[in-house]
Parts: sequence; C-alpha cells; structure tokens
Amino acid sequence: MTGFDDSSILEETERTTGRAALRKNVQAAMALANTIRTTLGPKGLDKLLLDEEGRIQVTNDGVTVLEAARVEHPTARMMISSSSIQDKVARDGTTSTLLIAAELLQNAWDLVAQGVHPTVIASGFRMAEFESQIFLEEISRDLGSEEEMLQATRTALAGKGESSMQEKISLLAVKAAAAIVTEEVGKIRADPTLVKVLANKGGRASDSSLVNGVVIAKKPAHPEMSGSLDSGRILLIDGGIERRQTVMDAKFKVTQPGMLEAFRAKESELLKEQVDAVVALGADLIACKDGIDDEARSLLEAAGITAYRRVNRKDMELLSRATGSISVHSPNVASQSDLGEFHSSRQESWADVSHWILEGSQDSGQTLITRGSSEEMLEEVERCFADAIGVACQLHEEPRLLPGGGATQVALARRLRRYAETIPGREQLAVEAFADGLEVIPRVLAENAGLDSLARLLELTAAQTSSQSDWLGLDLGENTIRDMDEAGIREPLRITRQALKGATDSAVSVLRIDDLLWAKQDPQIPDGVLDQPE
Ligand code: ADP
Ligand code: MG
Repeated sequence: MTGFDDSSILEETERTTGRAALRKNVQAAMALANTIRTTLGPKGLDKLLLDEEGRIQVTNDGVTVLEAARVEHPTARMMISSSSIQDKVARDGTTSTLLIAAELLQNAWDLVAQGVHPTVIASGFRMAEFESQIFLEEISRDLGSEEEMLQATRTALAGKGESSMQEKISLLAVKAAAAIVTEEVGKIRADPTLVKVLANKGGRASDSSLVNGVVIAKKPAHPEMSGSLDSGRILLIDGGIERRQTVMDAKFKVTQPGMLEAFRAKESELLKEQVDAVVALGADLIACKDGIDDEARSLLEAAGITAYRRVNRKDMELLSRATGSISVHSPNVASQSDLGEFHSSRQESWADVSHWILEGSQDSGQTLITRGSSEEMLEEVERCFADAIGVACQLHEEPRLLPGGGATQVALARRLRRYAETIPGREQLAVEAFADGLEVIPRVLAENAGLDSLARLLELTAAQTSSQSDWLGLDLGENTIRDMDEAGIREPLRITRQALKGATDSAVSVLRIDDLLWAKQDPQIPDGVLDQPE
C-alpha cells in the first residue's frame, strides 16, 4: 500500500503563514467584536435577527447574536466558543469577554507591527492576567445583604427588555437561587440548572412567576386517578410497570395448548406483584421513567394511587430533590426509606395543556413559569432569567462583588501600568497593551450611551487616581461618574474573573496560531473583514 497522499487536501486550501495569518485572525476577531459592540451595557442597542426560517428575534444578548450569525471563520469560531464557555460557566459577561479578547488582539497586532514577537506578547499578556487576578481580589468587597444581590441581578439585566420585566425577573431569580442553595461539607453550592424553566405562552413577561415545586406537562396515567392530593408519600421508579415483552424480545415455542395463556397469566401476576408492592409501601403517588401497562394502571387506580408515566430523566431528578425520594428500579426492591414526601400535588391546565404541579417537602424544587406573547418574547425572558439566576448563584457560592460601569477595568488598567514599569523586558509593552485593552469596556459603555468615550475614560481615570477610589465608575442612568457602591452597580467577582481569563486565553491562543489553513471552498468571512485595507 502506498502512503497517504494529502496533496489533494492541500489543493483545496490556501495556506497562510506567520504575520499574514495573524493579521487575518485579528481582523476576524475585530469584525466579530464589532457585531456585538453596540449591545454592551444598559444603553446597548437591541439587534433584530432574522433566522433561516424567517423568524424574527429581538435581543440585546451578545451570545445570541453570535450564535445566530453562523460564523464560519475558524478563529472567529474559536472565539465564539470561548465566549460560550463563559456563557456556561457564568452566563453573564459574555459580550465583555469577546470585546476584551478582540481588543487585546488588535493591540497585539500594533506591537507585532513594531517588531515585537507574538510569543513575547503572549507571555506579557499571561503576566498581566496573573497580576490582574490578584488586583481583582484587592478591588472586590464582601456582599453585604440580599438587597445587594438583587441589585447585582438588576445590573446584569440592565438594557435587556422592559424595566417591569427586569424587576420581576431579578426578584424571581434571587428567590429561586435562595431555594436551591445547598451546603456540603461546609461548601456552598448553588446550581442554576436545578431551577426548571417552563414556558406558558400568553400574558406579559412581567407576569412570569415562580412555583415552589416541580411542574411537568403531564396528566395522571389513568383518567380516574385523582389529580389533586393534599400531602403524602411518593415513590420514584427508574423504569416502568410493564409486561416484559417490551423490554425483552423473547421468542418461545408454544408446544402445549394453554401455554400462551399460562404465560400471560404469569405476566399479569408479575404486574400485580409490583402494584401490590407499591400499595404495601404506602405510597400515594408514583412517577415512572418508563410506561405503565393498562392493567397495572387500573390496579393502581383501584388502589387509590395516582401515577405518572414517561417522566423524563431530568424531571425525575428534580422530583427526587424536591421530595427526598430515592428512585428504585422496581417497586419490588423499594423500601420505606426510598419514599419521599410531598406537600401537595395538583393539576392545572394552561393553554389547554394539563400540567402536574408537585410541591415537595424540601424547598429545592423550583420552576420558573415564563410568560410572554410570543415564542421570541418567552425566549428572551428565559435568557434574562438565566443571566440573573447565574449572578445570584455565583454570589451564593462566592459572595464577593466588584464595581460595574467600567470601574473595575479602569482600576485594573491603572494598577497594570504601574506594574508594567517594573518589567525590564519587552513584555512591558504587552502588559501596557493589556491595560489599554481592558479599557474597551468603559469606552464602549460610554459610546453606546452617546457620550464622548475618550473624554469619559480620561475623566474616570483621573477621578479614580485623585480620589484613590477603585469604585468610581460610569453611572449611565444618571450620566455621571460616581461611586458604584452608592449607585448600586455591582457585579460578582467570579464572573469578572472568569471573563478576564477567557479573554486572555482566547487572545493568547490566536497569537499562537502562525499557520492557518483556509478552505478555499466557500470561505464565509464575517462582514467587514475584506473591507479592511491590506
Ligand atoms: P455582558 O454580556 O458582558 O454581561 P452586558 O450588555 O450585560 O454585557 O453589559 C454589562 C456591562 O454593563 C457591565 O460592564 C456593567 O458594569 C455595565 N452596566 C450595567 N448597568 C450599568 C449602569 N447603570 N451604568 C453603567 N454601566 C452599567
Ligand atoms: Mg450582562
């Protein structure tokens, strides 16, 4: 066999190396950043998106814009994926991450043009990030009260949707987060995915509500079963109460008359045994992951037990948390300690769909019911809730706050410039470039509010320096420079820390690419990349 011939692959691609590759990558990053630049901050503009099916979406969310843009450029895609990581880790701070990353690259390019090697820049950026993380600790302060948590969620929603919705969603997010906090070996955990989100089309976004319980779009397995129970005990079955054929595809030979009947009778007996086991345990309610046979359903109904079938895994998990029940494979192997307790179980019909609402004995099952007149509206409410509960959960896990309104970035830049002076090598230039890069946040915040961005940045830097206060920032509600503590514009330290790391990581990895294979076929480049002069 002859060796693998890859020339045919290379024919299809154009190879760009070294500086040319970096230049293209920086341009792609800038083009990407420009598409979301105007959405940053409370005065950011909404974007109108049109997808392939002709659906219109209005959003102020940077990630949503990027996801809809279907960018093909490899570097741009890599940067989007790093901002999606930010989205998953912290949810908030995604636009900032991308803007900073692109700005770092632009500044790096200027240095490359002056003859500084990308490797030196990358190492300078790493040094700057390392110091910044220490500075962030110094600038941050403890979360003082629940009111401050509420203000932080409001800051995260600034500019997104109408104010009545922001207000409502912040309140619900703080409430939901408080309900799902757990403490394990002294460590506080708050996992926002424990809050289920269910859309109920209609009404206004501000009518969205939080149900203390798990809501599942299902009705009981038998029409005669009671949909409303006051309180009782629940068994969760990680399987079904079904005949075996559905599980095993067994073949058998009928050799004697009556054998088939005997087989069926045996199966009915097995089903009955399982139902008897449920009755013996004293469960009032059961939920199965799989199906329940007709016969078993009737038996359960006759025994006064309400049953739900085909409940998905995620919902089973939520039910388990809300009731303290431990799921079992079959009722035959269940014991009293596997049962959980509930306060109430009821059916409610929304938009003609019957919903099962189970309020557990533990507060940990929460469901947000989003309201809105259209699918798009419902999605926007859901995204806002995700931002807000992300912030609240982060603050439970790490109750430290940083000032918003560009204050943190200006404070970091001031410190980084002093730090740069101590570095003898060329990395000094990269640390300065990093400091300049961070300032993109206050600049764009001001720009989007229609202010003179450079003048505001200089004013803010001077104000922080003369008063020795890191907490002075831009209050875009009042259009002044003031103490962000007084203005109530604060953000979780955890989110800013992650944003800084994400931005540096993606800038550094772009700097390290010096060879770019570009598929010749249909290279889709973000708008504006080709317009830039060679
Ligand atoms: P991201 O996706 O990065 O979170 P946002 O559009 O949510 O982007 O904007 C967040 C920025 O807006 C943060 O820097 C935050 O400090 C700032 N911000 C929020 N509210 C205000 C305000 N009232 N005044 C000034 N800046 C604000
Ligand atoms: Mg935000």
